[in-house]
Amino acid sequence: MGTYSFKNSQFLYQKALKVIPNGVYGHYGLAAGGPDSPIYFSIAQGATVHDIDDNEFIDYMCAYGPMILGYKNPTVDEAVRKQYEKGDTVMLSSPVMVELAETLVDTVSIADWAFFAKNGGDVTNLASMVAKAATGRKKIVKVNGGYHGVAPWMQDAGAPGTMEEDTSHIIAINWNAPDEFEKAIADHPGEIAGFISSPYHHPVFEDNVLPADGYWQKIESLCRANGIVLIVDDVRAGFRINLHGSNESFGFKPDLICFGKGLGNGYPLSALVGTDAMKDAVASVFYTGTMFFGSAPMAAALATLKELKRLDAAKVMTDIGSKLTEGLVKVAEDNGYNLKVSGVPAMPYLRITNDETFQVHNTWITECVKRGAYFLSYHNHFLSTAHTDEHLKKTWNIADEAFKAVKQGLKQ
Ligand code: PMP
Repeated sequence: MGTYSFKNSQFLYQKALKVIPNGVYGHYGLAAGGPDSPIYFSIAQGATVHDIDDNEFIDYMCAYGPMILGYKNPTVDEAVRKQYEKGDTVMLSSPVMVELAETLVDTVSIADWAFFAKNGGDVTNLASMVAKAATGRKKIVKVNGGYHGVAPWMQDAGAPGTMEEDTSHIIAINWNAPDEFEKAIADHPGEIAGFISSPYHHPVFEDNVLPADGYWQKIESLCRANGIVLIVDDVRAGFRINLHGSNESFGFKPDLICFGKGLGNGYPLSALVGTDAMKDAVASVFYTGTMFFGSAPMAAALATLKELKRLDAAKVMTDIGSKLTEGLVKVAEDNGYNLKVSGVPAMPYLRITNDETFQVHNTWITECVKRGAYFLSYHNHFLSTAHTDEHLKKTWNIADEAFKAVKQGLKQ
């Protein structure tokens, strides 16, 4: 099997650098780093993506989550087409918005209402405002390494474009450390409005970590005892662990849940859902956007939720993710390497533990990408319902060749 070249991507990237800051920015920019990875796609279908050099990839990043039923899913796309024919962003809101809110309320266990926006960060930001509106307090507790978007309060102190004041009411504690939450409450009595966290810990550049036994129950009881709004950021994990909210799999009930990414199978939509107790607070916050009412993405989400339910998608993705990583671990072992898998099966984080410097790990990932399995060295991966056994078999072969290439490289 030959390895891919990325000449056309590189050429276009050089042009882009002249007219787009950083050429490609944000999380796409981080991945577009070296000469050994694709940057621009030509077409995507199911679980595969072609780049403009005509290379084909089995996509294990799923656009960082939105692709949950496969690219160009016919059921979702048909629903979108039909809605586009009627109109998308129009002078009035669409009936599909009400139907989608009803569906989310029926689907997500804690949801009594739904509020729609575009990106995940829109609703994590709204959630923090709702917590402040509901409690009349200032401070938000978050988890070190947790990502909630790019609003100034979510960024690291000192990040370019932010001011000290932006994070002066943010308290960061470590994951799986309820004692630190207890201490924060004791240090700031009556001042903490909300606690925000993903349902399990999925930072970048680090193994992912599930909640310890009793962790969420302790956090939940501390929130209840102290009038703190409990916010789950399910933007990334939403619908890949449990259709009814990832919290259901970890045995606790938040006040607010943020969804995005997979909600519309790639069409731009996010949602904040919450309990009746939060409804007045969210209604009191003035929060909107010109594009928030676009109805085609709502039709996409409605079709996506129906398909996720019909397919028992969280189980499908969990099973295929487990199978993928079991095979990869074995291929690694056969080649004398140890592949550590962390996080949940539908969103596995991979790390080769043989060297501390990550050189073997990074090279192996690059060699996989150069042969058509799109992995990322520092981020959890994503499975979809479009990944099949055929894709897995191809991927294991690619992984095997990539290990051999790593060994060959080390010998030279
Ligand atoms: N929360 C989590 C857990 C995320 O993973 C992300 C995006 N990676 C966000 C919030 C922000 O979502 P968006 O990029 O759609 O604003």
